[in-house]
Amino acid sequence: QGDRTPLIAGNWKMHLDHLQAIAFVQKLSWGLKDVRHDFGEVEVAVFPPFTDLRSVQTLLAADKLSLTLGAQDVSPHESGAFTGDVSAAMLGKLDVRYVLVGHSERRQGHQEGDDTVAAKTLAAHTAGMVPVICVGETAEDLETHGAAAIPLAQLAAAIAPLPADAEFVVAYEPVWAIGSGQAATPEQAEDVARALRESLRDLRGDDVATATRILYGGSVASQNVAGFLRQPNVDGALVGGASLKVDEFTRIVQFKK
Ligand code: PEP
Repeated sequence: QGDRTPLIAGNWKMHLDHLQAIAFVQKLSWGLKDVRHDFGEVEVAVFPPFTDLRSVQTLLAADKLSLTLGAQDVSPHESGAFTGDVSAAMLGKLDVRYVLVGHSERRQGHQEGDDTVAAKTLAAHTAGMVPVICVGETAEDLETHGAAAIPLAQLAAAIAPLPADAEFVVAYEPVWAIGSGQAATPEQAEDVARALRESLRDLRGDDVATATRILYGGSVASQNVAGFLRQPNVDGALVGGASLKVDEFTRIVQFKK
C-alpha cells in the first residue's frame, strides 16, 4: 500500500445538532485515545453538518484531539449572491481539511452533475482543502455498464480542472451499497479501486496514482471493515450510518488487518 495512511471518515449526514456533536466527539476521542495499530497510524475524520463545524473545531483545538474535520458539501462559487451556500473559504477558516464532493445523495437528491462536482472539487482545492471525491454506480448502471465504467468517468470529470499537483481522496461508493446493509464484497471494492488507480496513472502519472488514497464506502460496519482494508488498493472507509454510533465507529477504527 505504499505510504498511504489509512483514512476512516465518518459522514454524519443530517444527524446530530451541535450539542449532540460536542458530546459525541468527546466520547469518540476518549474511545480512540488508546487505539494503536501494529501497522502504523490511521487518520480518523468526522464530517458533521455545517451548523456543528464551529463547535467541533473549537473542541478539537482546545483539547488537542487528533480527529480531522471534514465538511459534507461546499459551494462551487467563491462568494456572492448564493443564498444557502457555504463557501470553501468559510470552511477553511474553521480548520476544515476535507470536503465531500459528488456524494450520491447530492448527485441524486440535488441533481448535481459532473460539472457541478468538478467546480466544487476545484473550489475546495483552491481554498487549501482536500476534496474527497465520491464516485459510484447505481444498481442499474451496474447491470448496464458493469461496476467500474461510471466511477471512472465521474473521477475523470471531477479532477479535470485540478492542477497536476493537487491532493485529493477518492471514495468509491456503489450507490446500491449506501445505507442498504448490502456492502460490496472486498473483491468487488478492490476491483474498482484498482481500476480507479490505473486510471489515475493514465490521467495524472505514477506519483499521483501511488499517493492518492482510495476509500470504500457503502454499509461499512465493524464486522466487514477489515476485509476492505486488507485489499491492496483500498486505503480506508467512508462510513455513514455506522459512524453515528460511538462504540461501533470506534470498533471500525480499531480494525485489524
Ligand atoms: C455514505 O453515506 O457515504 C455511506 C457510505 O453510508 P452508509 O455507510 O450508511 O452506507
